[in-house]
Amino acid sequence: MQTLIEAREIQKVVANLGHQIATEYRDQPLTVLGVLTGSIVFLADLIRTIDLPLRVGLIQASSYRGATTRPLELRINDSLVPDIRDRSVLLVDDIFDTGNTLASLIDIIRHNSPRSIRSAVLLWKTGKATVTIQPDYHCFQIPDRFVVGYGLDYNDDYRHLPYIAALEPRDL
Ligand code: 5GP
Ligand code: MG
Repeated sequence: MQTLIEAREIQKVVANLGHQIATEYRDQPLTVLGVLTGSIVFLADLIRTIDLPLRVGLIQASSYRGATTRPLELRINDSLVPDIRDRSVLLVDDIFDTGNTLASLIDIIRHNSPRSIRSAVLLWKTGKATVTIQPDYHCFQIPDRFVVGYGLDYNDDYRHLPYIAALEPRDL
């Protein structure tokens, strides 16, 4: 596999994003909502760079392929979401690819009457979106390669890598 983004670079850019969020959310009742499982490493690093009172919650989203010809089907489990009524929600996910996951999550979270909803992603594969929304914050734009590390997996492997790497076809 090929390293695309070094650990040092990730730490620097995530910290900058945390400082920007801290400035923009000052005096707001912030709840950071991490999307399981891919966001866990990004979530843990990001919240420690946001120097504000905040709450942390989790929501689970997973897409899986059904029978071969069926499109990706998205399953969402919102049983872990805390009370977010009138709170400023920042949804944190690992990667924005087609955007289908974030668009669906935002639709569901809206039903819980938050004050606002914005999204932050570590990675953004630009040019692939099938939805009209875009992430409000992102750390890196990347080409259309399958990447792992820093929370992202292949078959639940590689999440612990502190850097982002692209898997070569022979790794799959
Ligand atoms: P979307 O719904 O935006 O198409 O895809 C978002 C989800 O697909 C991500 O949360 C992630 O779980 C998965 N995904 C998309 N691209 C990649 C990738 O390059 N590597 C990994 N590990 N997961 C990906
Ligand atoms: Mg995901």
